[in-house]
This record gives sequence, C-alpha cells and structure tokens, in this order.
Amino acid sequence: MRYISTRGEAPALNFVDCALAGLAADGGLYLPETYPQLHASTIAGLAGRTYAEAAETIIAPFVAESIPREELSAMIADAYRGFRHAAVTPLVQLSDNLFLLELFHGPTLAFKDVAMQLLGRVMNHALKSRGKRATVVGATSGDTGAAAIEAFRGLDQVDVFILYPHGRVSDVQRRQMTTVADENIHAIALEGTFDDAQAILKCLFRDEKFRADAGLTGVNSINWARVLAQIVYYFTSAVALGAPHRPVSFAVPTGNFGDILAGYVAKKMGLPIERLVIATNENDILARTLHTGRYEVRGVKATQSPSMDIQVSSNFERLLFDAHARDAAAVRNLMARLDQSRAFDIGAEALARIRAEFDAESVSEAQTKAEISRIYEKSGYILDPHSAVGVVAGFRALKNHAHTPMIVAGTAHPAKFPDAIEAATGVHPPLPAHLAGIMQAKERFDVVANDIGAVEKFIRARARATAGK
Ligand SMILES: *Cc1c(COP(=O)(O)O)cnc(C)c1O
Repeated sequence: MRYISTRGEAPALNFVDCALAGLAADGGLYLPETYPQLHASTIAGLAGRTYAEAAETIIAPFVAESIPREELSAMIADAYRGFRHAAVTPLVQLSDNLFLLELFHGPTLAFKDVAMQLLGRVMNHALKSRGKRATVVGATSGDTGAAAIEAFRGLDQVDVFILYPHGRVSDVQRRQMTTVADENIHAIALEGTFDDAQAILKCLFRDEKFRADAGLTGVNSINWARVLAQIVYYFTSAVALGAPHRPVSFAVPTGNFGDILAGYVAKKMGLPIERLVIATNENDILARTLHTGRYEVRGVKATQSPSMDIQVSSNFERLLFDAHARDAAAVRNLMARLDQSRAFDIGAEALARIRAEFDAESVSEAQTKAEISRIYEKSGYILDPHSAVGVVAGFRALKNHAHTPMIVAGTAHPAKFPDAIEAATGVHPPLPAHLAGIMQAKERFDVVANDIGAVEKFIRARARATAGK
C-alpha cells in the first residue's frame, strides 16, 4: 500500500513513513493510492468480535508489509487494553432511532485517545527499529494535546511539544497537559488562537532544515495513521446495528474534519453508510461551504465546545482531492487561493460529489445548552457539549431519513467541560477516579509569543534531537 500527497509534489510513502511524516513535504496530506475493499461477508464477520480483532481486520490492509502482522496485532491489543470500557467504544441508545457512540473511555476522556494510543505505539516501534530520535510537535484545540502527551510520555526516542491557545481551553484540558511531570513533555501556551497554532505548525513543517534537524513529526489529525485508527469504530458500531444488511447514518461533531473523514473512508471501503452529517458549532465554515460552495475563513468564536473552535479544517483537503477526481493540481490551486485570500469556491461537479455523501448542520450555543438539559431531564444522561452539537445535528438529519439508525459520535466525557454542564443541568460532573488528582497537581507550561521564530527557538533549546545542530 502506497500513500500519495493531495498536492502531488511529495514522494509516495509506505504506511510507516507516512505515519512518521505527518504532513507531506509539499504541504499536502497523505491518502492511500486506493481504498481497500471489504467484502460484505467480511464486514458481517466483524459481528461479535472484540474491538481489537475488528481493528486488526480493518487496519491490516492499509499497513500491509510495513509492519509485520504479529507486531501490528500486539500493538493494537496493547493500545485498547487501557480503555475503561470492555467494548472500547460502546453504543448507548438515546432515542427511537438515535444512538450515541461513546468514544471517550480512553485515558484522557476524548475520542482522540482511540487514534493516539495506536499512533504512539506505531511511532515508537518505527523509531526504535531505526535507532532514531524524533520531535513531535502538535497544535491542539484542547484534546489532541492531552491525548498525545498521554501516548508519548516517558518515551526515550521522542520529545513532545504541544501548542495550545493560551486561555482558550478548559481548565481540565489544560491541566491534563500541564500536570504531566515527564521531562520529554513540553506544553506551550501560545498567545493566539488554535488556527494560529496550526499555521505555525505548518510553517515549521515547511522549513526543511528545522524539519531535518528536529526529526520533526506530526501527530495532529492530519496524520493518516490517526484517520485510519478512527475508521474502525464506524465499522464496529454499524455492524452492531445491523450492517452490512442495513445501512446506518452518522452525525459527527466536527472541527478539523479528521473524524468524519474516517467515516467517509469506511464508506469507500464498502460500509453501507447512508448519510454523513457534519455537525459544527457556531464556527460553521463547513456548513456554509456545503450550503454555498464557498469555503471562506472568518474569525474564530470561543464556544462551549472548544475542540471544534476551528475555521481552517485541515482534513477537508483530503475530501477535496477525491471530489476533484484526485487532481492534485486542482487542490494546489484551491490551497493557493486559501493562502492568498482566505477563501475559495468549489466547482459545481466537485460540490455535487461532496453533497452526495455529506450533510452539514450548524448548531448554536443556545441549542447546544438546551439539548444537554433536555436529554438530562428526559433520561438522566449527561452529554458533553461537543456530543450535544452532534446530537442536535443527528436529530435534524433523522427527520429526512427516519428509518435509518443515526449514530452520533460522542467525542468527549462531560467531566472535561464541567462549567458548560453545570450551566445546562445544575450538576457538576465528577472526574473519573484516575484523573481526580489533576486539579491540585502542580502545573508546568511556558507562555510563548504568537510568532514562528519564538516557537522554533523554544523547541531548538529543548529538543534532544536538535542538540548541537
Ligand atoms: C477533536 C475533537 C472534535 C473534532 O474532531 P475533528 O476530527 O477535528 O473533526 C470533536 N469533539 C471533541 C471532543 C474533540 O476533541
């Protein structure tokens, strides 16, 4: 299996190299040359298997010969052993035909763990076998950072630098990043927004000297290995509700478009998915894009669902690549226009291809809060604000497709966002026992200016890979 860049000007790579690279050298994102096809009988055969077994069946064709099968199998089993639910990603029924897929039973209480726990093991394996050191640099709107830190803490081959927007993540999110004592972990409070952090990250990757000196590697949701790990739960949840014998739909709280892209790939592999519903908060660039065909960046608003406070949805580039029949020149064109004028228009044909698979719903702050309190009053179930955005969107989409089960991605545990939950329900959701200590633990982070030079200097002074370079 080879991976190609959406911008067509970077070398094709195998799976392991693609996981280590993160972003392609031409600024593009890697996608498999072709999507492996799973026969309906293979999909049906996932029923009743453990999560790790299903994951191996789905992931193995993408990894192919780049990791020996027994090692892959062991990494997958190990990655999901630490989840606090035996089913790893259980389904909960919220209404007649609407289900919540709980993706937050990993160590940091958000769905990012599902992918990061595997990516950490894949990278460590690759670096060890090559005797190399790497520097992981990530930008986070809150949850990726904690998940990356948890997956890489204490590893000898890797130093981790996480940029998060200063003052724009929840206390729990920040403390999950800043209370980790391991010396290879560095939390950077950037004086800017998540989009600023992501822009700095992209510049660092484009700087060839820095990239080489630091052995720079990216673990953001643009890393293909993360998208790949997320494909698994689309299959397992759909099969639990009757696939491949009947279709299901998904509504996914969306920011950087990584999670829902995994659903799209699952569909391309043969999973019968009727609709993929992009659920956004008031940062609604994707909903506007689907409705108007114009992708236009506006200012970022702070909301109750901070992990989706994003305007530039990086993984959308992968969908654009497919929607333009994999014409890399067309993607380069759109991305150049985005750099120049913060906007581009999608042609009629490509837009029609996107609309054939996706719906998009934007959910206001008031609607999100009302849904948390409505579901709590009706059933006692506490939704986190991100999942609540998904649930509102899921119910809206269900109106047009009433007979297809709607699975909403439950992306975070409510205890990560206690203020929003308390405002909506009057209840303070307690942190699970394994995290109870972080609210008192000593914090360690550095505030750094929103400036590429300042960030590079900070990393060079601390990364072991750049020592003497
Ligand atoms: C990251 C995140 C999202 C958005 O996922 P994307 O893959 O970036 O679209 C939604 N909810 C939570 C809780 C998250 O952490």
